[in-house]
Amino acid sequence: MAERQAEIRAGVEAVRAAARICVDVQKRLVTADTLEKKDKSPVTVADFASQAVVCALLARALPGDAVVGEEDAADLRTDDNATLRAAVVERVASQLGGSPGEAEVLDAIDLGGAAAEGERYWTLDPIDGTKGFLRGEQYAVALGLLEGGEVTLGILGCPNLPFAGGTGALFVGGRGVGAQGYSLADAAAGGVSIHVAEPPSVAEARFCESVESGHSDQGQSQEIARRLGITAEPYRIDSQCKYGAVARGDASIYLRLPTRKDYREKIWDHAAGKAVVEAAGGRVTDVDGRDLDFTHGRQLERNRGIIATSGPIHDQVLAAVRATLG
Ligand code: AMP
Ligand code: MG
Repeated sequence: MAERQAEIRAGVEAVRAAARICVDVQKRLVTADTLEKKDKSPVTVADFASQAVVCALLARALPGDAVVGEEDAADLRTDDNATLRAAVVERVASQLGGSPGEAEVLDAIDLGGAAAEGERYWTLDPIDGTKGFLRGEQYAVALGLLEGGEVTLGILGCPNLPFAGGTGALFVGGRGVGAQGYSLADAAAGGVSIHVAEPPSVAEARFCESVESGHSDQGQSQEIARRLGITAEPYRIDSQCKYGAVARGDASIYLRLPTRKDYREKIWDHAAGKAVVEAAGGRVTDVDGRDLDFTHGRQLERNRGIIATSGPIHDQVLAAVRATLG
């Protein structure tokens, strides 16, 4: 009997429902003139609604499970935000059915306000890669399960990633369950096993990194690629889709190089992705080669940056990273 079947079932259903909201909101966003006006309110609506739906569905299926989400409803509760609040409630109702009231929806968002401590909790980024979302590009709904300080399960909904001839990929990976890819939209379709792709030599690897140069140092990644003899152009893509790309062999390296000394990576930005890449046979550390340490609350206090690879090339990549970062 494979492990964590109840968690996978609940997590996948929750991520699919949240992703449906995001897809719908993004569709309107890119067809409307909001893109030009740089109006960020649609992504805010989708962000809150996504967290509410994931938390509500997890609470239904696995009552008592704690969730550490990126968002909280404090701002949304203020008088100023009545319009925003109504929009969130409408989005949430579209997925949960019934007619949830404002209080219920706000409380669902705040179910994601658990402390990042204890034996077992989920961590959620309701929309990872909001910049990509606003550009009409890549983003992810990312849900990870932490048990005993280790990430044991990751579920990544990537609505704009190609999958099996269509658009929208869902990745599931974890300890004892392997890694699978599914169509995000077609819940009835079966999954396929996914695996990292080890390049014949590190020079033939393709690496992925953030689109946003403020999130990862692209000058340094260029230098690292040069040291490794990599000539392929970087695959720039927002969000934890990068982990999905490495897990299924679209790229063999993910470089996330600190741009600021004081920045700490957030647990919801990496838990799900790490689980998927490791279950697909890859390796994930920080830029110093340290394991990611999820036992210090909401941030990876003891780590800086992220390096994920197909595995065997990891040490070579780390050596080039060290040589470049000094
Ligand atoms: P990406 O789409 O991979 O560029 O990453 C998006 C994530 O970057 C967001 O969820 C933020 O939490 C995170 N982020 C924000 N500022 C920084 C920064 N200075 N360095 C690294 N990550 C950041
Ligand atoms: Mg994020």
